[in-house]
Amino acid sequence: MNYDILLKFGEITLKGANRAYFENTLLRQVRYRIKPFGSFNVYKSQSTICVEGRDEATDMDKAYEACKKIFGVISMCRAYETEKDIEAIKKKAAELAPALLSGAKTFKADARRADKSFPYTSPEISAEVGYAILTVCPDVKVDVHDPDVVVRVEIRDEKAFISGAREKGAGGMPVTTNGKALLLLSGGIDSPVAGHMICRRGVKLEVIHFESFPYTSERALEKVRELAKLLAGYNGAVCFHTVSVTKIQEALSKNCDEEYFTLLLRRFMMKIAEAVARERECKAIVTGESVGQVASQTIDALNVTNSAVSLPVFRPCIGLDKEEIIQRARQIGTYETSVLPFEDCCTVFTPRHPKTKPVLENVLKEEARIDCEALIKEALETRRQEWIKENGSDD
Ligand code: ATP
Ligand code: MG
Repeated sequence: MNYDILLKFGEITLKGANRAYFENTLLRQVRYRIKPFGSFNVYKSQSTICVEGRDEATDMDKAYEACKKIFGVISMCRAYETEKDIEAIKKKAAELAPALLSGAKTFKADARRADKSFPYTSPEISAEVGYAILTVCPDVKVDVHDPDVVVRVEIRDEKAFISGAREKGAGGMPVTTNGKALLLLSGGIDSPVAGHMICRRGVKLEVIHFESFPYTSERALEKVRELAKLLAGYNGAVCFHTVSVTKIQEALSKNCDEEYFTLLLRRFMMKIAEAVARERECKAIVTGESVGQVASQTIDALNVTNSAVSLPVFRPCIGLDKEEIIQRARQIGTYETSVLPFEDCCTVFTPRHPKTKPVLENVLKEEARIDCEALIKEALETRRQEWIKENGSDD
């Protein structure tokens, strides 16, 4: 049966004078994300976004799945349209009841009138609809306090809608309302989760990945592209930058103390990321680091990495246990791809005894053994940029 999708705004309804801007951004995102699935009417009505298919060819199920990933939506449901007439509403409710109540022992009908000129009050509509449902489902009981299912009736300006259980939306704020940031995306579990968390706060992500061909393979890069594609399901199209750090790693291994390899490489990554971020107008850098997870993530090591750049560095996984990060990765659908066993540039040239309590002064001394500026310039010349989309939609 065909249905409309109703999306409720989340936090954005609190934003006072900026409210229209947040709502219109969300509206645009919804239109963009469901475009591959047919032709839709998307409009705003009383702090709800309504999505209706224009013809039979539209795939409402796929559109519904896509809407689940749109940040700024607090809750959502499938809603079945009817005429604004009490008899039509009752007839539709009776028709839908077996599906909406499947498996439920108790229910309540809950009506709301946005259009106060409708000739029945909300309690009257609820009672009429409840009665209509009981006539087709005599085994279910009404429970107004703790029902298994709430059948909602909304009388809006244009039409009436009947809907069943409301699902949680993706939450957060519409992407782009908080600017852009550059995510350092490895092939691991943590960085996609970090990206998702920041994106959820309304930040549009661009992504940078460092490869070290021939030490890392084309297949390893393909895996990271796949992760970027999964992130695009939340972020919209992702601008994906690839930079080679092969020359840097070779210079480090030839000239510097092995104990400092990882730290020095991380400083290079940050500096390169900062240069790309500034060019692309990204206002922050995002990483998947978490305190104490590995030697390069002790507080001392993080300080050494931080001091390489002046842009703010967001590390949303900083206080999460690995188990918690894994749980999030499963929820957002990146885990299965992240655990595919391919090498990362951080796993080649790894020191046997990395410094866990590095002193910045000593790190800088090691760094002075190589021509950092020239190496960064050379690395930036290897940069490739592509747009990665979740599916074939246009921007
Ligand atoms: P992840 O699970 O995301 O790979 P990790 O626990 O393996 O993280 P590290 O390898 O030390 O930790 O990397 C820490 C962070 O540095 C990553 O979360 C990511 O943001 C960034 N990073 C590491 N390797 C790369 C890479 N090859 N390209 C881009 N960013 C990287
Ligand atoms: Mg990693």
